[in-house]
Amino acid sequence: MQTQDNRAELAVQRVRHPLKFRLLQVTKVHALTPHLIRVTLTGEDLHDFVSASFDDHIKVFFPEPGADKPVLPVASPDGPVFPADQPRPTARDFTPRRFDREARELDIEFAMHEAGPAATWAAQAKVGQYLGVGGPRGSFVIPTGFDWHLLIGDDTALPAIARRLEELPAGARVAAVIEVGDPSAQIEFATQAELHLIWRYRSESTCRGEALLQAVRELYLPEDGEGYVWAAGEAATMRAVRYHLCTERGVEKSRIRAASYWKQGAQAVHETLDD
Ligand SMILES: Cc1cc2nc3c(=O)[nH]c(=O)nc-3n(C[C@H](O)[C@H](O)[C@H](O)COP(=O)(O)OP(=O)(O)OC[C@H]3O[C@@H](n4cnc5c(N)ncnc54)[C@H](O)[C@@H]3O)c2cc1C
Repeated sequence: MQTQDNRAELAVQRVRHPLKFRLLQVTKVHALTPHLIRVTLTGEDLHDFVSASFDDHIKVFFPEPGADKPVLPVASPDGPVFPADQPRPTARDFTPRRFDREARELDIEFAMHEAGPAATWAAQAKVGQYLGVGGPRGSFVIPTGFDWHLLIGDDTALPAIARRLEELPAGARVAAVIEVGDPSAQIEFATQAELHLIWRYRSESTCRGEALLQAVRELYLPEDGEGYVWAAGEAATMRAVRYHLCTERGVEKSRIRAASYWKQGAQAVHETLDD
């Protein structure tokens, strides 16, 4: 196995972006599956939008009930400043799935679930409505030149995984292990990479995340070359996945990025998993 020092091009980079809040309007709503809704947003505010990594997230601000537009904070050197005379706006994290600067278009994909302001908004999304978008504030850029890539996630990670698969070059070796509710939630991926794709279904297991963890346990990991693992999804499952890979499979902690994208029973959770 080559050492990290020999492969400087494999260093992960952190990039900062100026914080901005943008008011955008919905131009398209498209159900990719009954469980995943793509919303296309547009606005002149997107002229300087930057998203350098599939791992990026934006803060999406939703209008309060009865309001047309979301309340947006103003960026200041000390961070966002919210209007003092109004309640804090409701906001959740989402992946910038696709950005086209020329067309001023940004796609976000919402995984549907039972409750929560973001899922509720997505279920009724219509052309002409407004959303606010803050960030990304920074990007964690994982080089595409690793000898192998492993992507792990649930429905909330589908946008990031789909984007990563589109970005990986021809010849890249990648495995993706994804848990969704049932086969109706599967999507097609466009990629030039050599993709080994494993879908697992919650409908076939007794508890959430179990099918995903089992698939990761059974997965062959190449013994040669340098690999990178990216994982995102429900908090407890992601902890178990990371623990398994780092302690039982010898994946170096510098070669895994695992994040909680949501947590059962809690609202708006985002946690990068470290020791
Ligand atoms: C960096 C980052 C990027 C993300 N990118 C995406 C993305 O591109 N697309 C996407 O759909 N999500 C994405 N998420 C996850 C999304 O932010 C959460 O699912 C968020 O909680 C949804 O908000 P809500 O208002 O619908 O539910 P909340 O009000 O936050 O939660 C309400 C209840 O629903 C539960 N819940 C939340 N999400 C789910 C879920 N997916 N399935 C089942 N129960 C759930 C919570 O445990 C809680 O009990 C991302 C999260 C992070 C941190």
